This record gives sequence, C-alpha cells and structure tokens, in this order.
Amino acid sequence: MQVLPTIAIIGRPNVGKSTLFNRLVGKKLALVDDQPGVTRDRRYADGRLSDLRFRVIDTAGMDEAEADMLESRMLLQTRAAMAEADILFFMVDGRIGVTPMDEHFAQEARASNKPVVVLVNKAEGNAGLAFLGDVYALGFERVVAISAEHNEGMADLFDTMVELGVEAEATGDDAQEFADDKPINLVIMGRPNAGKSTLINALLGEERLLTGPEAGITRDSIAVPFDYKGQRFQLFDTAGMRKRTNMRGKLEKLSVSDTIRALNFAEVVLLLMDATIALEKQDAVLGALIEREGRSVVIGLNKWDLVEGDKKAYLEDFEHYLSKQLPQLSGVHVVTLSALKGQGLEKVLDAVLSARQVWNKKIPTAELNRWLEGVIAHHTPPMIRGRRLKVKYMTQTKARPPTFQLFTNMDKEFPDAYLRYIVNGIRQTFDLAGTPIRVTIKASNNPFAKYAKKR
Ligand code: GDP
Repeated sequence: MQVLPTIAIIGRPNVGKSTLFNRLVGKKLALVDDQPGVTRDRRYADGRLSDLRFRVIDTAGMDEAEADMLESRMLLQTRAAMAEADILFFMVDGRIGVTPMDEHFAQEARASNKPVVVLVNKAEGNAGLAFLGDVYALGFERVVAISAEHNEGMADLFDTMVELGVEAEATGDDAQEFADDKPINLVIMGRPNAGKSTLINALLGEERLLTGPEAGITRDSIAVPFDYKGQRFQLFDTAGMRKRTNMRGKLEKLSVSDTIRALNFAEVVLLLMDATIALEKQDAVLGALIEREGRSVVIGLNKWDLVEGDKKAYLEDFEHYLSKQLPQLSGVHVVTLSALKGQGLEKVLDAVLSARQVWNKKIPTAELNRWLEGVIAHHTPPMIRGRRLKVKYMTQTKARPPTFQLFTNMDKEFPDAYLRYIVNGIRQTFDLAGTPIRVTIKASNNPFAKYAKKR
C-alpha cells in the first residue's frame, strides 16, 4: 500500500477552506457556513482529485472575533496541521486580496519549510486576478487561481500536485498512457497540386493500417485513422474528399470558409508546399489562417526530389522569406519530403508529434516568472510618457494553443516591440516552436494610485 501524502489546507477564516475540503473529500463532511467563525477542530479525510489520492487536513473555522485567537488557538491549530502535512495549501480570498492576517499565515507557512501552494480562491470567471500581483509578492513559487465553489482551476491544481509528487492510485504511468492514447487530429493543407493526396496515400500505404474511411465529423470530411510509433492519428482528408466527390477534374479552389472548417478538426496542421514554387501567395494566406485559428503547424516542403543545387542555401532562403511573409510562423519546423518517393515521411510525422506536444504544453507559473525576471533585468522596459512600464508577472491561463496573461501597469500603452520581445523569448526559452502563442495584457493597478498626488 502506498503511504498517502498529507495536505493541510490553511488560511484565515472564511477564505473557502471548507468548500475546498468538501470538494476534495467528496462528502459534505465539513460544515460550511458563510458566516465567519464557525468553530471546529481540525478534521482529516481521504481526498482525491481526479485519480490523485492524498489525505487532507482542514483547519477551517477559527473564530475571528476572539481577540487572542490569532496568537493562540488558531495558530496552534495551524501549526499542528502544518507539522503533520507534507504539502500546504495556503488559501487566500481572491476577491479581497492579501490582508495582514494572510501575511501572518504566509510567514508561518514559509517558516515550515514545506512546499506551499497558494490557492487564490473565489477566482471564478477570472475574478480575483486583480490581486494576483500582491499574492505573488508573498514570494511563494506556486500560485493557483481556483474557485472551490464553482470547481474551477482544478486542472491547474492537479498539475501542481503532480509536480509536487502526489500520485495517482494506480501506477502513475497509466495517466500518461491514457493521454498518449488520444489520437492526434492532423489536417494536411496546401495549394492544389502541392501533393496532399499523394502524401496521404503514401502515409496510409506505408503504414498499411488503414481500417477504411470512417464517417467524419461532417459530411465534407472523412477521418482516416492510422498508427505511427504506437500513436494513433486521425487524418482529416478534407481536400481529398472534395476531390473525390464533385471536384474531380476541375481545378480545386480554396475558400476561406472551407479552410476554417477543416481547421476546426485540426490539432496540428501540416502545411504542404511545393518546394519548387514555395511561399506563393496562397501558402501565405493559409499560413496566416492557421495561425489565426490557433493551430500548431508543421511546414512540409514537398517535391524535394525536384530541388537541385545547394539545399542548405535553399533552406536558409526559405527561413528568410518565411520570416518576411509569415512572421507569425517563425521558428516552425520545416521538413523536406518527397511524397511521391516516400522520402521524409517519418520526419514529417515526428515533427507533427512534437508540434502537438508543444501545443499542449503548460509552463509552471513559477518557472515563467523566474524567466520573466531575467528578461526584465536584461532588457529594462521602456518609459512611456514619463512613466516606467512595469512588467509585473505572467501566468499561462491555458494551452492549445499556449495562452498567457501578462500583468502590467499600462495595458493600452504596452509597446508592441516589447511584447514581441517577450513572446519570442517565451518561444525560445520554453521550446514553443510551431505553435501560435497568445498573450493578453492586463493592467493591475493599485486601486488607490489614482488618488495619489502627482510627484
Ligand atoms: P494535391 O492537389 O495537393 O492533392 O496534389 P496531388 O497529390 O494530386 O499531386 C499533384 C501532382 O504533384 C501529382 O502529379 C503528383 O504526382 C505530384 N507530386 C506529389 N508529390 C510529389 C513529390 O514529392 N515529388 C514529385 N516529383 N511530384 C510529386
């Protein structure tokens, strides 16, 4: 039997500890009361989050009204719980922000030398994010915004717990296998005659695992399953389908709406170009659409068998023109292949695999902010109309594609150049080539700053 790690939920009264306790324990065990001051002792229970298993201690409900409370019983309770715990969940109220009492708890938590996860509760629908700056200022590495009541942020909490070594009931590998078992939705796009049909046939022919076209999500597309290195793929053959039906013999026309529909199926898009006439206008239009729809992308330079001369120079030129015509896609994997000769197919699929991984990637907030500090130190944010631009902190709010929220003192005036600098830095540092990166900028000003005398 595995020894379950113990988690203590600590924090001042009424931040929502019991609600979380109930959620993790799954029973209405802890008494929840909207009024502060329902006095209870510590309680223990087996908790679970998805397939993670652990013990939870709730320190809920000390009476704030009693004057000596903080110094005496509440503190004793908290300390006792902390001593028994392997991990501390230190909860604050995201709508109220950090109070002096929270700071007191923070100090206690820090002194324990145990891993601390700061839970910014009551953050449903992004409420409570306004105070994130103050929360980060407490100095803990792990901060997760949640809503215990509305069950939000649990995926982030799950990730953080896994990071801290909390394990699933079954062997930890099961979860991983399950994740890998999901098929990758791949769409191949490109101008007419880029070689899409040839490539699809080559992929399926070589794998010999085609189990027959299945009915796809809409009438206009078919999902063709195949396997590669034990990974299932679903190839959405939108163009091919059109060809087989009413387009045979006619010139295939790309329409924006067809493309967007196809993109809806895709996790990864293989943008296929004819290497002998690469980066035509239509290629650029497609590339921009893929980026706009937030899909991960791999560029396939097909008909490589028809390219002569200095191939290294070709690829350098390609990178150069790509960065001019499609700066959004700079850094994507460019793979050369010959669909006709069946060359480079594995390289293509390997690139697709890594593109999906990148698209799904989540960067821990602590790591991101450690990096951000370095960036700021290295390249001081500019002055804007006499005020110093402040880049306070950053958090990844979702994946698929990686999306970040950047907190600053000036959102509207945030210079594009500095944003590009940050996005490029994220891309390079955290290996996010080939996926769009979204950053939203949010001002988190001190609400009292506007009353301050101009100095
Ligand atoms: P699609 O319109 O993108 O589906 O393009 P097709 O697959 O129909 O290919 C268009 C033409 O390019 C056909 O004549 C193919 O034989 C040819 N073709 C496709 N891939 C290659 C390749 O890698 N090398 C060469 N030399 N020709 C290719």
